[in-house]
Amino acid sequence: MVFAHDTEVALAAAAALANTRADDGGADALARVEDLDAFVAGWSYTGSRAAPRDRADELAAIRALREEVARLWTAGDADTVAEGVNRLLADGAARPHLARHDGWDWHLHATSPDQPLGTRMAVECGMALLDVVRAGELDRLKVCDADDCSDLHVDLSRNRSRRYCGTRCGNRADAAAYRARKAAGE
Ligand SMILES: [Zn+2]
Ligand SMILES: [Zn+2]
Repeated sequence: MVFAHDTEVALAAAAALANTRADDGGADALARVEDLDAFVAGWSYTGSRAAPRDRADELAAIRALREEVARLWTAGDADTVAEGVNRLLADGAARPHLARHDGWDWHLHATSPDQPLGTRMAVECGMALLDVVRAGELDRLKVCDADDCSDLHVDLSRNRSRRYCGTRCGNRADAAAYRARKAAGE
């Protein structure tokens, strides 16, 4: 394991959040409150949600967060990421403490469940990126190598060799390379 389990999950969730942005011809996957509901359910976020009339603001905060996550992910510079991490943690009034609940033994929390979802997600991203900077592992925060994909992913492989965001992009790249080789040979 490269990072603690909760850090690895949080990094995967942070990448997924940033990847909801419209790019590569794809639609914005976090355009509506219903999209956020699906994201929250898919990544098993617990804790409070905004009152229905405030859900648009909740969504706006999380849409802003994904831009910041993408900026820090691709910064490639520890000073920049450290600055961003410190801001995320300060803005979210992060208060690291141990918690034990729902069958999970002692683990790190830095917010309480009654804080706004956007704040809790921001602090979670901040704590995860903090671990990456502290461990000197910034080069594990990657952008997919496929020509037509710019999704973020975290490379947790032993030799830092992961190039693609998922098997789909990897397979497509393999197929393209195969066809290029074949064409060159013909
Ligand atoms: Zn917990
Ligand atoms: Zn990809």
